[in-house]
Amino acid sequence: MPASIALVAHDAQKDLMVAWAQDHASVLSQFRIVATGTTGQRLTDQAHLSVERLLSGPKGGDAQLGAMIAEGKLDALFFFIDPMSAMPHDVDVKSLLRLAILYDTPLAVNRSSATAVLAALPQNG
Ligand code: PGA
Repeated sequence: MPASIALVAHDAQKDLMVAWAQDHASVLSQFRIVATGTTGQRLTDQAHLSVERLLSGPKGGDAQLGAMIAEGKLDALFFFIDPMSAMPHDVDVKSLLRLAILYDTPLAVNRSSATAVLAALPQNG
């Protein structure tokens, strides 16, 4: 079974994540990809990846990913956080980051760390 990875980008970071995903599409396509709603739609439409879409982040998608981490169902989190804006769902963002830290989930928060984490993940499970 392929490893499960999650991709999430705040609105101001979505173009960056789509461009990064396009650059790494062949490697990414070897994993089971889950994403928050809007990020997932963009990745499907623009990077042509097969993505399981959760709720939109502010509507509970971040919380769904946190639950997946707590249940051992997520092998890596790629979370492109907007460093310049306050978020209405800041508590959800912090909770997701906290759980990723707590459960020692590989975590990438920008393009360079994403490239490094992706390269370090075992492919084909
Ligand atoms: P979105 O959620 O992909 O639905 O925009 C991202 C987020 O804000 O966590």
